[in-house]
Amino acid sequence: MARILVVGGSLGGLFAANMLHRAGHEVRVLEKVRGSMNGRGAGIVSHDALVAALGRAGLDVADSLGVAVQDRVLLAPDGQTLQRLHMPQVLTSWSRLYDLLRQAFPASAYVQGASVTHIEQHADGVEVHAQCEQGLRQWQADLLVASDGIRSTVRQQLLPEVQPQYAGYVAWRGVCEEGLLSQFTLDTLFDSFGFCVPPNEQIIGYPVAGADRHTARGQRAYNFVWYRPAYQAPELQALLTDADGVHHPLGIAPNKISWREVARMREDAQRLLAPQFAEIIQKCAFPFLQPIFDLASHTLCKGRVVLMGDAGFVARPHIGMGVAKAAVDALSLCDAIQTQGASPEALRHYESQRLPAGQEAVARARWLGSFMRSDGSPALQQERMHLAITETAIDLGRYGHQSVFIGVPA
Ligand SMILES: Cc1cc2nc3c(=O)[nH]c(=O)nc-3n(C[C@H](O)[C@H](O)[C@H](O)COP(=O)(O)OP(=O)(O)OC[C@H]3O[C@@H](n4cnc5c(N)ncnc54)[C@H](O)[C@@H]3O)c2cc1C
Repeated sequence: MARILVVGGSLGGLFAANMLHRAGHEVRVLEKVRGSMNGRGAGIVSHDALVAALGRAGLDVADSLGVAVQDRVLLAPDGQTLQRLHMPQVLTSWSRLYDLLRQAFPASAYVQGASVTHIEQHADGVEVHAQCEQGLRQWQADLLVASDGIRSTVRQQLLPEVQPQYAGYVAWRGVCEEGLLSQFTLDTLFDSFGFCVPPNEQIIGYPVAGADRHTARGQRAYNFVWYRPAYQAPELQALLTDADGVHHPLGIAPNKISWREVARMREDAQRLLAPQFAEIIQKCAFPFLQPIFDLASHTLCKGRVVLMGDAGFVARPHIGMGVAKAAVDALSLCDAIQTQGASPEALRHYESQRLPAGQEAVARARWLGSFMRSDGSPALQQERMHLAITETAIDLGRYGHQSVFIGVPA
């Protein structure tokens, strides 16, 4: 049994923590956020690999993961249906997955309010320093798993040259309760994975569980992700500046987003989007905003420290696989430690599997992002629209893609 510290208690960290705990290791999670983490994320597209990883974490939820859709629908700006395809999929949410994983892990080993500041490595262990409410604290471990996200403190210490690259666009996200929507939107969009592709933009959406996880008709919600170009300056800067003029360059909290930017975005929705999507956006109480980045690490381990999830690779969300990728990272890491012990060799074995997987995910997500472009001939634009609806956020295994990044190691 090894002592393993996991930095970051979001979905990736919790997948690793649960699997390693079930494998008999002494695991502790250090999470900088104090208090409830719920309500942070929005909808998540599920994949067979995600369900398999949940199983390895001891959670059998195949029938209660979320809302099932049968179709994908592409809407024209006037709301007409341009294309409808039969593509069944289950849509879940960040909160549902977080609750499941959190409840399965011992509460006493999940330390909140511990913001890791730096680490020190020795030949046979790692020392982790964190700022806590009571002051600075240290923990010792045999291995450290860094699952602390795109701005990972651990990665910045080990690989300062690896930095997120802004993709040139942002995503407005949010959910709207089903009960608020018109019959027209319910009939023509709500039950489907929907798309609308105005020039150089793209909105996707799908139904998810509503308040209190209800999935019955009438009690669900519709989740949207609207990708919009924004030059770094001045547009992105304005979007990341709150109503009091404070700039939040690393990302703006939902409650800080300027009401002027929200109002502008809602006006643009009426002008540019199919009326079904415009209605959903008008009636969404709390839209929030995320700049889109690529991140590709050239190394995933150093000594006894390993990177996983968004700390190692961030693929643009068109792929709809950030959580599944983090889950498969956790699985691969757990398997490597089981076969090779809690050792640097195990971490190198994990790296040999997950480095190509991360590279492939980033490349595929960039390719999917290119379908937002609306230059070129009408035929080329048709082709891009078709690829957007048939390739975005699909479960690759089900559509016959041979891919290393969805593989669940035996
Ligand atoms: C617009 C958008 C849409 C998306 N849609 C989907 C989708 O449909 N499906 C999907 O699978 N994925 C989606 N994703 C991606 C997904 O959200 C991430 O890939 C996934 O959450 C990765 O989780 P993670 O645990 O690696 O990192 P994170 O969720 O970023 O968690 C990192 C954790 O580390 C903590 N932390 C950070 N620094 C420290 C520190 N110094 N000390 C202690 N703790 C620390 C943070 O508080 C946080 O809890 C989307 C992303 C975006 C931006």
